[in-house]
Amino acid sequence: MAKKVTKKEDVFSWDYAPALEGTAHVKIKNKYDLFIDGKFVKPMSGRYFDTINPATEECVSQIAHGNDADVDKAVKAARKAYKNVWSKVSPSDRAKYIYRIARLMQERARELAVIETIDSGKVITESRDIDIPLACNHFFYYAGWADKLAYAFPNRKVEPLGVVGQIIPWNFPLLMAAWKIAPALAAGNTVVLKPAETTSLTALKLAEIIKDSGLPDGVVNIVTGHGDTGAAIVNHADVNKIAFTGSTQVGKLIQASIAGTDKKLTLELGGKSANIILDDAPIDQAVEGIVNGIFFNQGHVCCAGSRLFVQENVADLVLKKLKRRMDQLIIGDPLDKNTDIGAINSKEQLNTINKYIAIGKDEGADIYQASPKVPEKGYYCAPTLFTDVAQSNRIVQEEIFGPVLTVQTFRTVDEVIQKANNSPYGLAAGIWSDKGARVFNLSSKLKAGVVWANTYNKFDPTSPFGGYKESGFGREGGVHGLSAYVNLKS
Ligand code: ADP
Repeated sequence: MAKKVTKKEDVFSWDYAPALEGTAHVKIKNKYDLFIDGKFVKPMSGRYFDTINPATEECVSQIAHGNDADVDKAVKAARKAYKNVWSKVSPSDRAKYIYRIARLMQERARELAVIETIDSGKVITESRDIDIPLACNHFFYYAGWADKLAYAFPNRKVEPLGVVGQIIPWNFPLLMAAWKIAPALAAGNTVVLKPAETTSLTALKLAEIIKDSGLPDGVVNIVTGHGDTGAAIVNHADVNKIAFTGSTQVGKLIQASIAGTDKKLTLELGGKSANIILDDAPIDQAVEGIVNGIFFNQGHVCCAGSRLFVQENVADLVLKKLKRRMDQLIIGDPLDKNTDIGAINSKEQLNTINKYIAIGKDEGADIYQASPKVPEKGYYCAPTLFTDVAQSNRIVQEEIFGPVLTVQTFRTVDEVIQKANNSPYGLAAGIWSDKGARVFNLSSKLKAGVVWANTYNKFDPTSPFGGYKESGFGREGGVHGLSAYVNLKS
């Protein structure tokens, strides 16, 4: 679908048309350095790692691997920018810079969408219609707050925290960067951000955009690398706050390592969200909602509706329709706009998913897999569901982060509340019903930060997102997302 037209000395150039109106000229350099103090600089580590297109297993580019010294350089640049420049910029001027970033992102939206798809394996229709527009919208939304903080926090003096360290995952690379950077800047902080190691490219494109926007040097620094680079940010003594989105396991490590320091922390971690179908639900819509809930972005979604609960008297019908729908899903080239399910983000993640599928079979659950044609090369996983599962099964309790659904049935609403809440996680939930009263009753009893009714995986910059229990703490999005980046004085 994408045509690689030239390979000059240091640039892959793609002309990409089919899924977009017109052509996107996409340039990916062979090698990317770190973005520190407004410039791309070579890593002091001297090390680079490959970033792979998971749909083809080809190396797309080489990415700098920042070490402790690189992180220290970035934090120093962020501190200097905070002290000398950003803390003196008026709130309305801060807003102008953030708006400018949003506009430049919009202008380059097609290019960003193609790069996101090449680097992450997600389908182009998602990058084009959901991720990139939402990322732009986060910048627009928080630009609006920059000079209205007094209204966000009435009767309080609002102060920025200083230098914030931000570590993001690979499932929504540019969108997570936007979720983190936009509110931090609006509140007056400077930033050191580390993208995930498998998906650094759109954050580095964002660095180019930030440079073009004229944002003062050092206000946003992007340090690429692996877990050790993230740990260097977490452990740096001059960082005032850590915002982390990723696995619960790493979130707990981070929490332990900053305990006893004065760093602030927000964590957005894993999930095992319940998607609940009541017997009066509009069944066809609900089936689409189940598909979207678990197969959207190959199930690489922290709030994925990975535990399906269907009321017993409609279970056979729902399952029949769901299996039929799964058989229709097209899996393959993520750059083809007709594809429903793209590639798994990395070989490592595919191994994890396959391990859980094997565990499910060992636990005695019944497996159903759609058997679509899958490209020979690349990391792919067929949409999978397990029935006949027990509440205690590992596939029901643990986050898989792939296109794997467990199905349980229930008779009464009390029973489903008990089962849905029986999880170490509490990020999101979905309810499908024709009756508002049943939706409100259930939603008030589910221990989850977000509850969707008759829809799933809907995101909006105005709406706070975050979890209960081991899904983390703190909220992102909306006015609540600002509180993570300010000190309030009475
Ligand atoms: P996943 O298991 O889904 O890859 P991780 O939690 O490992 O999720 O990764 C999320 C982000 O956290 C990535 O940017 C990764 O590099 C980073 N990371 C991994 N280990 C650590 C660590 N010990 N400290 C800080 N950041 C880390």
